[in-house]
Amino acid sequence: MLPQFNYVRAQSLEEAQQQLSTDGARVCAGGSDLLGCLRDDVFDCSKVVSISSLNQLRGIARTRDGGIRIGSLTPIAEVAASATVQETHAGLSQAASEVASPQLRNQGTIGGNICQKPRCWYYRGEFHCLRKGGTTCYALAGENQYHCILGGYRCYIVHPSDTAPALLALNATVHIAAPSGSRTVPLDEFHVHPRDDPQRETVLQGNEIVTEITLPAPPPGLRSSYRKVRARGSWDFALAGVALALAFNGDQVVSGRIVLSGAAPVPWRSREAENAVIGRRIDAATAREAAAAAMEDATALKRNAYKIPLFKGLVEQQLLAIAGA
Ligand SMILES: Cc1cc2nc3c(=O)[nH]c(=O)nc-3n(C[C@H](O)[C@H](O)[C@H](O)COP(=O)(O)OP(=O)(O)OC[C@H]3O[C@@H](n4cnc5c(N)ncnc54)[C@H](O)[C@@H]3O)c2cc1C
Repeated sequence: MLPQFNYVRAQSLEEAQQQLSTDGARVCAGGSDLLGCLRDDVFDCSKVVSISSLNQLRGIARTRDGGIRIGSLTPIAEVAASATVQETHAGLSQAASEVASPQLRNQGTIGGNICQKPRCWYYRGEFHCLRKGGTTCYALAGENQYHCILGGYRCYIVHPSDTAPALLALNATVHIAAPSGSRTVPLDEFHVHPRDDPQRETVLQGNEIVTEITLPAPPPGLRSSYRKVRARGSWDFALAGVALALAFNGDQVVSGRIVLSGAAPVPWRSREAENAVIGRRIDAATAREAAAAAMEDATALKRNAYKIPLFKGLVEQQLLAIAGA
């Protein structure tokens, strides 16, 4: 059952920020994650501040320098279908099309997708876990088949978003409206690792709102992709996923990023795998080497060792596919 809360539909960004200044107020975009959290009593909320009327936060446009601007309220389905995104940043379109179900992609927004709360069943269930202010991560000694194999520290969630790894691979920047003005944060500094604070997912303060996400112009020869493996063919979160954004000169990789989803508490950039391909041609041996490097630091929990070979196979296959090898 939903708890009692006040509801405000803000008519301007300023009004939204002002309403959010109250303790216990929460931003609501599409509500597809927030309302589930409230129903499951994951956190307290005294006021829901809807930003859904703020049409200036919607839409996808090419920027003058050849990059892309995506308003935070843009439905995920629009990001998936956008010809602008597909033209230069195909990996993001592929990631968006892998999110949840058609209904959720229509309701959920890109801003909400990168800010969503973890899907750990202890966090979402009746457990006062570390992320909720308790002292224990129940996954560590419990049912941890869907938990992390990289970057685990005190809290062993995996980051649930499909679009965030693709955005990170494509070097996105998050634009934030703050009461003192606006600020930008590179996506690789936007998500908070449990080492720094196990109770926060992002660097956002309570009254800050993500207004847009920008992608830089693609470097020459950029190819990008996203693929995830899930337990079933219908909607599901990633057991393992990989976002690639690699710039090629001929058949040689000159720069790029490799980011894993379903692996770590935050979208996980694998510099080890990147180093294994940058400056080289991707053939069967390079792809295998990079896949092994991606899992070099992986540590399985009791029930998720299957993820290590799964990631190796996925990274190897995706590298060969992007290279056309
Ligand atoms: C059944 C189900 C399956 C799903 N499967 C997947 C999946 O496979 N892959 C995947 O990536 N996701 C999946 N999701 C998550 C889904 O994509 C998110 O619920 C959705 O993207 C959230 O968008 P929203 O606009 O509805 O956010 P909301 O629910 O409105 O908000 C989510 C969170 O972000 C905050 N927030 C939202 N917008 C802003 C903003 N502009 N500024 C600051 N804070 C903000 C809210 O306060 C809240 O904490 C699934 C969800 C469900 C319910």
